[in-house]
Amino acid sequence: MDNYLKKAIEMYPNAGCELNYTTNFSFLVAVMLSAQTTDKHVNQITPILFEKYKDEFDLSNANFNDVFNIIKPLGLANNKTKSLIALAKEIVRLNGIPNNISDLQKLPGIGYKTACVYMCQIHNEPHIAVDTHVMRVANRLGLVDSANPEVISKLLESRYKKEEYIKAHHTYLFLGRYKCTSKNPKCESCLLSSLCKYFKENN
Ligand code: SF4
Repeated sequence: MDNYLKKAIEMYPNAGCELNYTTNFSFLVAVMLSAQTTDKHVNQITPILFEKYKDEFDLSNANFNDVFNIIKPLGLANNKTKSLIALAKEIVRLNGIPNNISDLQKLPGIGYKTACVYMCQIHNEPHIAVDTHVMRVANRLGLVDSANPEVISKLLESRYKKEEYIKAHHTYLFLGRYKCTSKNPKCESCLLSSLCKYFKENN
């Protein structure tokens, strides 16, 4: 493990998944709904959604407007509703959720990041999923120089041991979410400032 990750873990020793879920399907849905919004916000909406539609069978037969109205507060509701109903239909057709990255990515609304997050959380398969927070942190620290999540994921994975992947994902995500924020990063209280490219360039 390198000093970057060590210091980040020192700041966020308990970094982990913040999405609430009860089944594999509800987790996949929660990750999909979390695009362009916060986990906290998703956690307010998913209980309402799953109260009305308890599984993929219910959601596959759902009325578009009913689902739309529930998830509207999360934004991108038109696309998310379409994807959600199509996702449920496809999982019913396949008789279950695929258990590998490649087949997960063929599902409606599921990209590489969501597939990685799902495989880490549900199947404990090591990946460094790259969302907007991990991308920002990795670039600012100088660990990567890229805006492509898949490229960043591979670069970070080449840097760490497999058994460190999931920890690296959660820890850098927390660092980005709570300290290395998009606007006004809190560098003065960040243990990584002595190593950080962005800090050196801006101080
Ligand atoms: S020093 Fe600042 S820019 Fe660098 S990782 Fe910490 S918060 Fe982000």
